[in-house]
Amino acid sequence: MLSQFQAVGQALFTQGLVFSQGGNLSIKLGEHLVITHRGSTLGFIQEGDLVETGVSKNNRATPLASKELEIHRCIYKNTSASAVVHAHPPYAVALSFTEEEIVPCDLEGQILLSRVPVLSTDAMAKLEDLAGEIARLLNEYRVVLVRGHGSFAVSQLLEEAYYYTSALEQSCRLLYLLKTLKVVPG
Ligand SMILES: [Zn+2]
Repeated sequence: MLSQFQAVGQALFTQGLVFSQGGNLSIKLGEHLVITHRGSTLGFIQEGDLVETGVSKNNRATPLASKELEIHRCIYKNTSASAVVHAHPPYAVALSFTEEEIVPCDLEGQILLSRVPVLSTDAMAKLEDLAGEIARLLNEYRVVLVRGHGSFAVSQLLEEAYYYTSALEQSCRLLYLLKTLKVVPG
């Protein structure tokens, strides 16, 4: 299990989809979940960087979990997902300011993602307050983008949720370049 987290964390980090201590990963195991430690650096995950706690119940380790634990919990309670990848992909976050939804114009993005909704927030809202809305959208979409913040991707496997995150960033990079060239896709 550690190697799964390490492989995905390292891939996100080397591709610039998370920076420093940003982003978090989790998987669900029955009534429990394993999530990255508060403040851990995804590019360099060690055994002590994983925290096991309940999907609904707290335990001694709960305070050590990522500060976005409640969003991961809400997703597991309200969807069939078994893995969540939260990242801060820069092109996707940039486009989240100007778009209501991301519609990939590349084939891979279209096949994998179809479209990605952008959840807008008012500046005062805490990310935690959006948990219900994020979970609701993730019943319908593989990835949701939170305006000015980052992406939440779900799947049965951590690798797959990473793959969707990477596809989103790839599509957004292309959309960004096309906008710069003033090409209207489609
Ligand atoms: Zn974040």
